[in-house]
Amino acid sequence: MFKEIEVIDAPAGTLLFREGDMGNTAYLVESGKVEISTTQEGEYVTLGFVQAGDLLGEMSIIDDAPRSASATVVENARLQVIHCDQIRDRMSQMDPTLRYVFRLMSTRLRDNLYKLRKRANDEGAIADSSSASVDPLIREAAIDKLRMEADLWLAVGQDQNQLSVLYQPIVNLSNTDEVVGFEALLRWEHPTLGMVTPGTFIQLAEETPLITGISDWVSQEVIRHIPAIRNALLAAGQKEPEDFFVAINISASQIDLMSHFDAMLTLMEELNLPTSILKLEITESQLAQTVALMTWVREAKSMGFQVAIDDFGTGYSSLSQLLHVHADTLKVDQSFVRDMVLHKQAENMVKAVMSIARSFHMNVVAEGIETEQQRDMLKAMGCDYGQGYLFGRPMKLEAITHWMDSRKS
Ligand code: C2E
Ligand code: CA
Ligand code: CA
Repeated sequence: MFKEIEVIDAPAGTLLFREGDMGNTAYLVESGKVEISTTQEGEYVTLGFVQAGDLLGEMSIIDDAPRSASATVVENARLQVIHCDQIRDRMSQMDPTLRYVFRLMSTRLRDNLYKLRKRANDEGAIADSSSASVDPLIREAAIDKLRMEADLWLAVGQDQNQLSVLYQPIVNLSNTDEVVGFEALLRWEHPTLGMVTPGTFIQLAEETPLITGISDWVSQEVIRHIPAIRNALLAAGQKEPEDFFVAINISASQIDLMSHFDAMLTLMEELNLPTSILKLEITESQLAQTVALMTWVREAKSMGFQVAIDDFGTGYSSLSQLLHVHADTLKVDQSFVRDMVLHKQAENMVKAVMSIARSFHMNVVAEGIETEQQRDMLKAMGCDYGQGYLFGRPMKLEAITHWMDSRKS
């Protein structure tokens, strides 16, 4: 998957677009100055200037109407080109009522702008074309997001080794904390921001087609790593447990696209790996998309993959949804494990999850175990598996053997 993120250096005098043109791009001004102008009653009128940090040309994208003014670079400018899809993809996901209101607003805005301009022209004043009138917090958030999206396209499309997967161990609580599996957790080494956790960018990726590229990359990378993970266990002298697995997180948008199964199967076959070694984690909140999800889970199970319901206890799934999903594992959300020691209610919640899991023949992983007290309570409750900083933080593939060795001493 590749998309060119265009940054252009436009010298003074460059005409970016002309009034009346159809617009497919907006621009984020990184430096320099752009003049917005129009011709009214045969006369050239300057409407305003757009400077660094401002967007320009977004209106035609929103309402699919011709450019309402011309834009000319007046001081050498560096511009990031924002392709119409970056805005339209998000608009297409908007609630239809909101989309209508948005369009209506932009049409009215155009109309009002026209009237204002006419008055400004009559009075000889120059209208403010910058987005300074927008709440700076809203403006900054939008611009930061557009920048991050452009950076993510680069990271995904140009294989700059910015994305990587870390592995967090999952241990068997009933068997002296023996390692039973790993969860793959994505990281992004951003060129200026440093290590970025998925909480910051997965949602952004999900708003765009980027999520497909990222998800495909993660699943292929993890499958390619499985033989090395198994070897690391052996090298550290641990026999591979029968229930050994590696888990990956599946995003909501992957559920709609069954296509990624084929690529996963092909690679697993090539590497001679049983599909049951891969556990696909979907969050409890995804259970709400009942029909699509049921089909997806049925498909995954029929191919032999394991399925886990992540963050269990925070969503609003019903017992009947759970019954129909036939998952292998429930993962108790970290918040309950954290609160369990102090609040009886959280402890009762963990016990309830455990008893639901038993009735549905699922095993349980408790996440976010940070203290021995939490581990001991979970052990006493009969929880099968545990994951958390107490055992190990997410680590690079190459660090697994060393970590295993360090546990022996
Ligand atoms: P998650 O699936 O619930 O993953 C567990 C998160 O808890 C991870 O955060 C992990 O680093 C953190 N964690 C583990 N043990 C402890 C602990 O003892 N204490 C505390 N405070 N935290 C602990 P991370 O890596 O930042 O990932 C956040 C979320 O991003 C994940 O939550 C998952 O929903 C999502 N994610 C991660 N990798 C991927 C991916 O490849 N694809 C997709 N779609 N989502 C991903
Ligand atoms: Ca997870
Ligand atoms: Ca979780």
